[in-house]
Amino acid sequence: MDFTSLREAFPLIAGRPGLVYLDSAATSQKPKRVLEALDRYYKELNANVHRGAYRLSVAATEAYEEARRRMARFLNAEEREIIFVRNTTEALNLVAYAWGLRNLKEGDEILVTEMEHHAGLVPWHLVAGLKGARIKAIPLTEEGRLDLSALDRLLTERVKVVSVVHMSNVLGTINPVAEIARRAKEVGALMVVDGAQSAPHLPVDVKALGADFFALSGHKMLGPTGAGVLWGRYEVLEGMGPFLGGGEMILEVHVDRSTYAPPPQRFEAGTPPIAEAVALGEAAQYLMEVGMDKVFAHDRALLAYALERLEEVPDLKVYGPKGEDRGGVIPFTLGRLHAHDLATFLDQEGIAVRAGHHCAQPLHRKLGVPATARASFYLYNTKEDVDRFVEALLRIRQKMA
Ligand code: PLP
Repeated sequence: MDFTSLREAFPLIAGRPGLVYLDSAATSQKPKRVLEALDRYYKELNANVHRGAYRLSVAATEAYEEARRRMARFLNAEEREIIFVRNTTEALNLVAYAWGLRNLKEGDEILVTEMEHHAGLVPWHLVAGLKGARIKAIPLTEEGRLDLSALDRLLTERVKVVSVVHMSNVLGTINPVAEIARRAKEVGALMVVDGAQSAPHLPVDVKALGADFFALSGHKMLGPTGAGVLWGRYEVLEGMGPFLGGGEMILEVHVDRSTYAPPPQRFEAGTPPIAEAVALGEAAQYLMEVGMDKVFAHDRALLAYALERLEEVPDLKVYGPKGEDRGGVIPFTLGRLHAHDLATFLDQEGIAVRAGHHCAQPLHRKLGVPATARASFYLYNTKEDVDRFVEALLRIRQKMA
């Protein structure tokens, strides 16, 4: 796979040779194919889905359902287990409200981790607050891994939900989700996986993970904003009431009551993000053609090269584990420079990185810093990008000294 020539397929990257885009953990750039799928949908297929008897609506429905099939293949799931949502945040709120609100009771516990993105915490705060449930967290080790030795103490019969980020958006840590899912099942807890960072970067097989739910955002995996997926194990989905109510999700409606369609329609109220889902399907197809194992290997190679070269920069502190269980995300600080200033100086050098708490305040509290700068890689990044990043950091460090 020639990853350097692949950059040509990304108009924003190809059109801006001065830019080194290292913020794919926040959102990815989009290949031409995905942009064309969006454009083609509106020019050739646009109609509402699942309603019309006319051919254009049937064609729009077929394109939308083909996207569902592609997402099912991408995750090794069944089509009927794929629910289109806006993003990971909505997917996790769907689980918290549709499952948690009906199944949790006072004294129940929800087990999360100290490295969750706020999207994996706040929905549980909201629902736990309504139900009187408690939230506990699997702690982190010094290296930035989950301390699984704490599971014996934490994972009791009171735990009804275990919700874990698959790959940390700050540290890059890839968590042993299959093992945690196995432990969660032993106490009969629901296993929820935040796959916002893993789905774009690693091969994901939801069956092998053994979870009940897996959430992803299309915009982080080459798709447009506005479409994501919640995968749910069919037996679990079937036993759940809806999240949002309205058109499309019903079987029969009376003035004072209604019955609901089977999954996935039960969880797709109203007009879905049709064009966005179609384009997300195209993105998933593109990634499958490249090969997710190759995407991961490319990220890993850039990570290894960057970690080595970053050692040249005096006073640079890099966080996150050293090992195979890490994706292409590098959080860092430079001396006493505030992370936002560091990101602004890097921007002046054409390097786009993010700075802040990256929606992971508990994790930053644990790290003992209010903010970090973060560089993250994807398939369109190259070793030259890493070189330019490191050289810019060296110049910034020199100016500081
Ligand atoms: N979970 C993780 C690990 C993330 O990195 C993100 C986005 O940064 C989210 C959840 C939320 O994704 P979205 O804003 O697309 O809902």
